[in-house]
Amino acid sequence: MSGTIAPVLGEATVQELRNAVRGSVLTPEDEGYDDARGVWNGAHSDVRPAIIVSCRGAADVILAVSFARSNDLEIAVRGGGHSVAGFSTTDGGIVIDLSPMNGVRVDPEGRRAVVGGGAVWAEVDHETQAFGLATTGGLVSTTGVAGFTLGGGIGWLMRKHGLACDNLVAADVVTADGRVVHASETENPELLWGLRGGGGNFGIVTSFEFTLHPVGPIVYGGPIFYPAEAAVKLLRVFRDWSAEAPDEVTGLLNLTSAPPLPVIPEEWHGKKVVAFLGLSSGAVEDGERLFAAFRTAAEPVADLLGPIPYVALQSLIDPLWPKGINAYFKSTNLARLDDALIEALAAIHLEAPGPQCEIHVHQMGGAIAGVGEGETAFGDRSMPFLLNAVTGWHERDHADAHEAWARAVVAAASDASSGRAYTNFFGEEIDAESAYGSETYRRLVALKADYDATNVFHRNQNIVPSS
Ligand SMILES: Cc1cc2nc3c(=O)[nH]c(=O)nc-3n(C[C@H](O)[C@H](O)[C@H](O)COP(=O)(O)OP(=O)(O)OC[C@H]3O[C@@H](n4cnc5c(N)ncnc54)[C@H](O)[C@@H]3O)c2cc1C
Repeated sequence: MSGTIAPVLGEATVQELRNAVRGSVLTPEDEGYDDARGVWNGAHSDVRPAIIVSCRGAADVILAVSFARSNDLEIAVRGGGHSVAGFSTTDGGIVIDLSPMNGVRVDPEGRRAVVGGGAVWAEVDHETQAFGLATTGGLVSTTGVAGFTLGGGIGWLMRKHGLACDNLVAADVVTADGRVVHASETENPELLWGLRGGGGNFGIVTSFEFTLHPVGPIVYGGPIFYPAEAAVKLLRVFRDWSAEAPDEVTGLLNLTSAPPLPVIPEEWHGKKVVAFLGLSSGAVEDGERLFAAFRTAAEPVADLLGPIPYVALQSLIDPLWPKGINAYFKSTNLARLDDALIEALAAIHLEAPGPQCEIHVHQMGGAIAGVGEGETAFGDRSMPFLLNAVTGWHERDHADAHEAWARAVVAAASDASSGRAYTNFFGEEIDAESAYGSETYRRLVALKADYDATNVFHRNQNIVPSS
């Protein structure tokens, strides 16, 4: 299914756009505008688009792109709205919001799901788990499928079943010139390659098709919290355990502060802690053995690791990261987790300026490393760990301290960094060439020139087209 589609809006008025689309069209004068313009990261809450088009189907998306181009409006595409850098909104431009396009259709026999371009992971997990199936989704269930998958997609199932982008088998894309293009292994395969990690650079994905796997409904997973003093010991245990762990398990070490949850003793609330979080998608009865190293590593503050419904694990930390919190992330891929870095991370954790300053060390490898470097645009497959400095704050004037701390965390890792980075974990636009590496980057630039030569879609980790 590829072709040129009829609906085109020339120098239309907003009223003509309203008449043309099935979804809503809001401007600053309209009721509901303020709600509609809000994105997840409150740090971008001052941004005021001229128009927000909430699309109900591919035809609305085509009309919105056509209207934007005819009226010379900057386009911001919105899936789940979780871009930490604020890419899914634009001052004075047009937001093409796909959130009404959140349908999920599961084919249990074929183990496939077709997912609308505006769905969030909670919606996908809800539908797929009805059949005991799942695909790699995010650690927070309100995250959008679109931006997550197009950037790569790191989640609990990744070491067994690959990144989200590795499970993407096909997509429908509205291009800058208003065509709908199908991308699969057999149709426009280079576009599919680019959608697997190259971000929203090549067009607006209206529909994703994913491979599904048997998962749950009960898995073995969850967090164990320890005092911050155990950080060095835990990071070493985590490093050594990661080297031996089977692909069924995925782990994350988080240097953080204890959230004020009833499951954590009250005297620990707000205190600096280390949390190990993990999931085994294998047999539940094997979980105890697979995570045994973390039961003896240090005396826990709270041990919540055990059998848990997969959907519960997928939304466990949602309340800690609500829409509207101010946030900044900065990240790098690690070539190693050596003792010098471990000592540095444990020390900088203690200097965190607020309770929602987290140092995430993600265990990579497994199925991620099983995909060849050139097979997808998510080029860096070799890193054993990925470092992400995650910060959130509520008072506006706390921004500088939080951002400076996140930068310092990543700077502390410069010797152990692979030099590459995961583009979804940034609160700002980054240098795409160094993030992807020059070989992948060159291929992305050529693909961008084929599909979006004038860079219509630039509110993203941007690949600037070759001339
Ligand atoms: C609380 C939180 C938790 C997170 N957890 C994880 C995690 O566990 N693992 C992980 O890998 N990442 C995680 N992330 C990062 C996340 O992957 C990115 O923020 C991602 O871009 C979010 O996708 P979205 O659709 O919600 O974002 P949006 O803000 O809607 O879009 C992000 C980017 O994708 C583009 N885009 C959106 N929809 C489309 C579309 N349909 N077609 C083409 N382009 C589109 C946008 O234009 C923008 O450039 C998290 C982020 C947050 C805020």
